[in-house]
Amino acid sequence: MSSPRETLRRLAVAALARHRGEVRALQDLRHLTEVFRLAAVFAVLMLLPTMFLAWQALSSVRSEELSLDADLQDRARAISTGLHRDLQDVFTRFEAKALERLRRGESPTDSLGELSPYLRASFRFDASGALAAPFDLPAPLQIPEPPAAWRDAARSARALERSDPAAAIDAWRALAAASARPELAAEAVLGEIRALAAGGELQAAEARTTRLFEFPPDLRERHGFRIYDVAVLKRIELRLARGAAPDADRGALEDFVDALLTNRRWTIGHEADPALVREALRMLQGRSDPGWLSSARGQLNERYAQLYWAEQVVSELELVFDRIPEEGQFRYLGARADSAGVWALVRIGEELFAFSFSVQQLREELDATVERRNTEARELFTQLLDDQPVPDDALAARSLGPWLPSVTLVVQPFDADALQLSKNRRRTVRAGVVLTAVFITVVGVFWVARMIAWEVEAARQRADFAANVSHELRSPITQIRLKGEALQLGLVEGEEDMAAHFDAIVHEAERLSRLVDNVLDFAAIERGAKRYHLRPDDLVPVVLTAIDAARSTLSERGMEIEVVLPEDLPPLWFDREAIGQVMTNLLSNAAKYGADGKRVRIAVEPHEEGVDLSVTDRGMGIDAEELPRVFDDFFRSQDPEVRRRKGTGIGLAIVRYIVEAHGGTIHVDSVPNDHTTFTLTLPLQPPDGAGEPA
Ligand code: ADP
Repeated sequence: MSSPRETLRRLAVAALARHRGEVRALQDLRHLTEVFRLAAVFAVLMLLPTMFLAWQALSSVRSEELSLDADLQDRARAISTGLHRDLQDVFTRFEAKALERLRRGESPTDSLGELSPYLRASFRFDASGALAAPFDLPAPLQIPEPPAAWRDAARSARALERSDPAAAIDAWRALAAASARPELAAEAVLGEIRALAAGGELQAAEARTTRLFEFPPDLRERHGFRIYDVAVLKRIELRLARGAAPDADRGALEDFVDALLTNRRWTIGHEADPALVREALRMLQGRSDPGWLSSARGQLNERYAQLYWAEQVVSELELVFDRIPEEGQFRYLGARADSAGVWALVRIGEELFAFSFSVQQLREELDATVERRNTEARELFTQLLDDQPVPDDALAARSLGPWLPSVTLVVQPFDADALQLSKNRRRTVRAGVVLTAVFITVVGVFWVARMIAWEVEAARQRADFAANVSHELRSPITQIRLKGEALQLGLVEGEEDMAAHFDAIVHEAERLSRLVDNVLDFAAIERGAKRYHLRPDDLVPVVLTAIDAARSTLSERGMEIEVVLPEDLPPLWFDREAIGQVMTNLLSNAAKYGADGKRVRIAVEPHEEGVDLSVTDRGMGIDAEELPRVFDDFFRSQDPEVRRRKGTGIGLAIVRYIVEAHGGTIHVDSVPNDHTTFTLTLPLQPPDGAGEPA
């Protein structure tokens, strides 16, 4: 039993042997196996990995796109989270600082800027829910308008103060006595003091202030000023004007300012307290230490700003009591569409603190951050939407609650169409690159495989060549030996037979020497050692000599010889021996491959560029496929008809070398089973560096 492999081998040999004979078939099979093995190695090492890599690359384009989308989404989410965190940080920092202050027992209602730059006002409520610091809630001023008569009298008294102080004093005194309501009486006393001062009676004026202190301390005049405060200020003003005890008076005034700024709860919506402080500070200008003055001014401004802000948000305070947080925990009341403040509430013990942050300020800061983000991240567009629906293409959306619940932070692709377009472009470019790489690799692989096949074929031809040469050598040698031995043993009788034997010996010896010449020349050409000696000469005799030499071989096969020669031929540069060899090779091929009894035509035809020398036979011809390779080293047709004839495959290669060394060209034209014409063209001028094979 033979293995399947052996069976396959035998079948292949049988198929090949039909054309090439058993021995050649075995050799061919070895070569074929070699080619197949190389092709398989190539496929495994190159093609399969290339295909796999290409497939990977193409599918990675898609997954990269997906990851790009995911990446964009991640970035969008990071932006929205980042902005949310920024906002959160504002409040976290505030909470920490406020709690720290409370722990230290300090008031969280002073120096608000230190707690948070966005904090505008803070309020403290006591256990009963009443506002305890830093302001009073606005109680409606229950001061009725003075009667018309009183007003008229006050107006005329005031008018007299500059022109006739004495009369003014009397008028104010009369009005004070007549005023039943204490605030009107106090106002009249104040008028009297002014009139006394205007009349230069400063001491009397100062003494008169005593009367003002007799009124209840919380009494306010029509404009909301407390009579007591006005009295203090007036008295110090008069004393300072007299210059009685400037240092003591200045000290008293500074104490007055301190008291108003720190101990006094101002009333929301009332301007009287800050106005008194401002007046007192004006009087202290140039008297007090500048450092003290500027610190007092700073405090005034801060408190005044707080007072102003408290007035803006006072209407929102009622909300606070609906949401009292757990002890020590901050709770936020987000800004509503129309509110000015974001509220933070914290309860410490019995006390409740409410902090109001400016929505506008927070919003401005957020807008600036968003704008900065938009210039940084070009592919993404961030915006803040107020109570608007989130767009469809939003990559991330986040409410800014609990602080700004009506604001939604939205991150979108900057230009969705452009993004898609660039994605498509990237996809096309990627796929193009991958496919081109694959194409190049595949072409490269096939090309290399083909080259290897050629190399294998060339190696095979070389092997064939050795076999062919020995084969070709043997037959003339055998002939010569047989004929020679026959002559030697006297086996040949008769003149004619004898002559035939001698002719045969000479003929075979010529064949032998032609063969040896060809092989030696070829070897010299391959080594690069062959030199030709080109000199101007007549071509015709060389052609005729070669024809003569071939005549007997041609006529043996009944071939007619037709020679076409020009009447006049210019001398050409050539190597006699070499061109003779070219002719011999071409004629021997014509004799070998031409059909019996047909004509062989040899023509020499001059033209403008050179001289054409052609040999035409009418024989088997050459397949179009093989035409380009007939001049290759060792090439022999696969056609069994050709293979039956002896040959080495170097004849035409030598012809090509010689012609090229002469600066000429060789060309073959053939129609199978009709004719074959080899035409070589020799130039009129010798080539540069004439004499060396190309
Ligand atoms: P060979 O020794 O085989 O004749 P050559 O180099 O002279 O080698 O020729 C190479 C091959 O070209 C031949 O084997 C044959 O196939 C083809 N060939 C050459 N001359 C002719 C011709 N006149 N007619 C047909 N085929 C030819």
